[in-house]
Amino acid sequence: MNPFVYRNGILCAEGVPLPQIAAEHGTPCYVYSRAALLARYEAFRQALAGRDAMICYAVKANSNLAILNQFARAGAGFDIVSGGELARVLAAGGDPAKVVFSGVGKTADEMRQALASGVFCFNVESAEELERLNELAGESGRTAPIALRVNPDVDPKTHPYISTGLRSNKFGVAYADAFALYLRARELPHIDIAGIACHIGSQLLDPAPAAEAAGKVLALVDQLADAGIILRHLDLGGGIGIRYRDETPPDVADYLAPILAQLAGRKEKILFEPGRALVGNAGILLTRIEYLKHGEEKNFAIVDAAMNDLMRPALYDAWHDILAVRQDAGAEAEYEVVGPVCESGDFLGHARRLAVASGDLLAILSAGAYGMAMSSNYNTRPRAAEVLVDGAKSFLVRGRERPEQLFALETVID
Ligand SMILES: *Cc1c(COP(=O)(O)O)cnc(C)c1O
Repeated sequence: MNPFVYRNGILCAEGVPLPQIAAEHGTPCYVYSRAALLARYEAFRQALAGRDAMICYAVKANSNLAILNQFARAGAGFDIVSGGELARVLAAGGDPAKVVFSGVGKTADEMRQALASGVFCFNVESAEELERLNELAGESGRTAPIALRVNPDVDPKTHPYISTGLRSNKFGVAYADAFALYLRARELPHIDIAGIACHIGSQLLDPAPAAEAAGKVLALVDQLADAGIILRHLDLGGGIGIRYRDETPPDVADYLAPILAQLAGRKEKILFEPGRALVGNAGILLTRIEYLKHGEEKNFAIVDAAMNDLMRPALYDAWHDILAVRQDAGAEAEYEVVGPVCESGDFLGHARRLAVASGDLLAILSAGAYGMAMSSNYNTRPRAAEVLVDGAKSFLVRGRERPEQLFALETVID
């Protein structure tokens, strides 16, 4: 479902006209659709219906408490990569018994925090991490449930910055070393071998690499079973892509089908960790044009959102569709849509045809994932407000930051 459609020439979020949100909460402002979030979650739930499965939303894609709370209420688990994300999940009403803890650099404090909370599983990414976790679990009188995150060395055919399952990546335990490390884990008194995990990258559009990775994981699971190590769950990661421009991502069910086909007759619980696929197209960044600047070579639409609000264009040269909130508001021209930050890389879109006037609103689409979550305060810019729309109602779910909050922790010296 697409909740961002025009009604009477005005772009709306579900039943709320975007100019109303801008008037109430200002710009720049992230706007999310509750119905769209939940529809995506439901697509995963249905694709996995009848199976012992858990959908662990990857918190790093968008960690706003209201969004975590919506998923928690829908029954989701969570994939976290820091102690901060664990604190958010708990504050949002998430169930720690449905949390998987991923990440290559878990600190001792983060491990203690996760042990005390009783997370479902630690996805361990190195031999040293396994030893540390065993020690800390012993000290706290607990047993740590673990999966080894194996690196299946398949090419996900995505942007190099977001591919994680190649041998050359920092993530996971090399496939060839995983078996020996499971044998080591079996010796450790405070480790409970629960499962196996893999995650090969992000914005994946072709189901084949994930299916190939699943095949490799299953071969290892069977090899472990022969050695008497019986796993209870298989965590096949996230990474399912969305449409930003002209991509044609498969339906969730079609993407999962070749993976699920390989699982026929198996008893293990299955986990998936979607992030982008749940929230990416459920959010936009609403921004106002401050100035139109017509140059000899290029025209610029200078807007009040910038790379600090939405970093993906500057970071990956990512494309986001940009729509004028008011249709046919001016003469059409081609614009560089840029922010006020003092960097030439500060753009939101190149060469976009827009019919707009100064003061108009623009919607930067597909901004629900890795948008607000990757924002910064560069140029001492307060982070944008966030609004969650539900039907005809809108709710401020994160207030706009104020400049004095940005330097509240700083002090001057004599
Ligand atoms: C980032 C990440 C995800 C989510 O990736 P998406 O592309 O947003 O679905 C899932 N699992 C792990 C381990 C991750 O690092």
